[in-house]
This record gives sequence, C-alpha cells and structure tokens, in this order.
Amino acid sequence: MTRHTNLIPRWTVAGDAPPRAARDACPPGAAPARSLYIHVPFCAHKCHYCDFYSFVDTRDQQRAFTRALIRELRGLAPLADGRGLESVFIGGGTPSLLGVEHWRTLLAALRDLFDLAPIAAGAGEFTVECNPESVTAELMETLAAGHVNRVSLGAQSFDPGHLATLERRHDPGRVATALATARDAGIHHRSLDLIFAVPGQTLDDVRADLEAALALDPAVDHLSAYCLTYEPNTPLAARATRGEIRPIDDDTAAAMQTLVRDTLAGAGFEQYEVSNYALGGARSRHNLAYWRTEGWLAAGPSASAHVLTTDPATGLPAGARWKNMPSLRRWRAHVEATGSAPIVDFEPPDPARTLRERLMMGVRLAEGVDADRALEHADRLGCAEALSGAARRQRDLGLLDLEGGRWRPTARGFLFADAIAGALMGAVE
Ligand code: SF4
Repeated sequence: MTRHTNLIPRWTVAGDAPPRAARDACPPGAAPARSLYIHVPFCAHKCHYCDFYSFVDTRDQQRAFTRALIRELRGLAPLADGRGLESVFIGGGTPSLLGVEHWRTLLAALRDLFDLAPIAAGAGEFTVECNPESVTAELMETLAAGHVNRVSLGAQSFDPGHLATLERRHDPGRVATALATARDAGIHHRSLDLIFAVPGQTLDDVRADLEAALALDPAVDHLSAYCLTYEPNTPLAARATRGEIRPIDDDTAAAMQTLVRDTLAGAGFEQYEVSNYALGGARSRHNLAYWRTEGWLAAGPSASAHVLTTDPATGLPAGARWKNMPSLRRWRAHVEATGSAPIVDFEPPDPARTLRERLMMGVRLAEGVDADRALEHADRLGCAEALSGAARRQRDLGLLDLEGGRWRPTARGFLFADAIAGALMGAVE
C-alpha cells in the first residue's frame, strides 16, 4: 500500500553536513530554476498527524518573518536568472494566517524580484495553501491582485468525528464558503486536500467524504487524497503506539485508495499521480516540478530546494538538494546577518542519485518514466542491464506497463508505487 502525505519527498542524508548558506550550496552552472516554494511556518493549531515544520501562530513574529523572507528572496532571485517563473507555491504551515498587510508586502516583493509574466499571462501557476477558517474576501482579493491563481484548501474530511481524530480544528461547513470567496475574488483554480484511512473510518465514510467534495459549489478542479501516515514523533503515532487508536490495515487502506480512484474517475478526474487527481487538465504544475525532479528554489524555514546541473565527469544530469534550517529563530538570524538561509541536509550533485530519484518519483506518475532516457543514463553508470531487468520483473508482477517507451504504473501498480520504486532504485549502483 502506497502511503504518502508530504509532497516533497524525504531524502536520505548521509552524515551530518555542517550548516552552510543556501547561496553557497547552489553548484556553479546550475540551470535557472523556474519554480519557487515558500514556507510559512504559522498554524492556528498543531494537528496530531503533522510533522511539517510549523508552530502555533502568536502573530507577533509575522512582521519579522516577512522581512527576513524578502531578504532571502532577494538573494535567491539571481538563481532564476531573469527567466519567468512557471510556478510559485506558498505552503506551510498555514499561509492564509499571514496578515493581509504582510501579504501585500510579500507579493509586491515577489513582483519586483522575479519575472512573474508567465503566471500573470495564465501560462503559469501561483498557489497559496489556505485553511478554510482563515479565508476572507480581503485576503483573497489581495492574493488575486498579486497574481495568485490557485488556492489549495486543507479539508481532510467532512466528518467532524474524523477531523477530531486528526485534531484538525475547522468547521467542514466553511470549505464551500472559502471556495466561493476565492472564486469571487477571481481565483479560478481550486484544489482540495483529503485524508483517508483515518482510524475508525469505513469505506462508506470515505465515500461520503468524496461525495461531499464532489458536491461542492463552486467545484474544485483538483483533489489530493492522501492515505494517513504515522510520522515518527507525532502525537498520532504516539497514540497508536500506546494502543489508543488502531491504524487502518493495509488491505482496507488499499480498498479505500481504489474507491477514491474509481469515484473520482467517475466524476471525470484523471489520476495523474498516486494521490493526485485533476479535472480538465488542471494538474498542479508546481508539484509536477517535484515529481519530474526539475529545479526549484525554496525560501523560508525548513523549505527544501533542488537545482539541476551537469556532472563534469560524465556529462549526466545531476541534482543538488538542500533544506533550509527548520528553526524560525536560527533561519531569521542567519538571513538577517548574511542575506542567505542556513541549510541542513545538503546533498551535492550526484548523477546516480538523480537517476534513482527520477525513478522513485516517476513511478508515482501516470505519465511514468521516460524509459530511453533512464536506460541511457543507467548505461553511462554501467547498470542499464540491471535496471531493464528490474523493470521487466515489475511488469511480470503486473505493476508496470513498459509499452510506448515509458514505464508507467498499472492501476495495481499505483497501489505499490513505493515497492516498484524500491526495486528500480535498487538496480542503480
Ligand atoms: S494545518 Fe497543516 S501544517 Fe498546520 S499543523 Fe495542521 S497539517 Fe500541519
């Protein structure tokens, strides 16, 4: 059963690299990034399943945060090399908790520092994550004026009991109101997050959540439906360990994922990633940049960046990754002193890791992996035969379709994307 809640994958980090500045982590010759992620760490309340870097907002840190964020963005802007950004995603945390006056400052800075022309022209995507409770007309109008053209709303469930299990505090009745407020402000793309396999949830409960999501007026054109994961060191995981809640078993969770897929397919939604569904082609451009392992910049505490360069020894594509320090205090102090974020988990460019990541992420996508490109890459690393053998074994298990020059997960393969990824990645030396 494929479980996945975080859009940004977790990367295995070897050793404890000393903190350094993000500015110095970008390898020379890196391709200009066309996407930007910004992390806003404030939340109204800490949900029990969440392991994102966020904390309860006391509103007294917002001004200093915004000031430091703009300072960091000023340092990152040259890495876009004047090219138009194709996607901006402001996530968290709960970005909609940021005060409207700070949003105005931030959006004006983004316009000054980056070329947002593709987004302004409707060819790019600018998403802000929102909590239904914190959506106001003033906020939505401010966002729309700053070229935001997509909101992503964390609904998770429409059942108050399951929301309570998740310690998620919002009124499900506010979801439709928030969507209407966004629409009225001129934000035309709307996405909803749902979580299934909540302890105590039944297949009928999942069906009811899907029906509620599909009945929303105005409608959403994108749905993310994640299987609940028990992240280490979360209150939810501790409750499961103490036996206070019983996690849904894998077979039932798989049946729920199949129900999600079939129900959404019946409503015209295309499953383009294990947990993501789009109506009328409204796929998330920004999240595709993650899953296609393209380059993106990142700002704010705990934000993860990835840039692509060419390995000088082999001429193969190789990505460098890093993560901003997940501490508002230390991130802010460093940015204020140096203009660049302190980073952790730096991974230098490595063509073998880049191939492994492309395989890992590619098999989560309906479009799959470009087989010729992967095998050419593997050939230069001396492991093409092992990789094509691994792909054939996944085909023989009924998990991968190898036709048409791409390795695509089958309907069953979507349920076992982690296992397919493990098998393919294991073939890359
Ligand atoms: S609102 Fe989102 S980021 Fe904040 S605690 Fe809940 S799940 Fe985590």
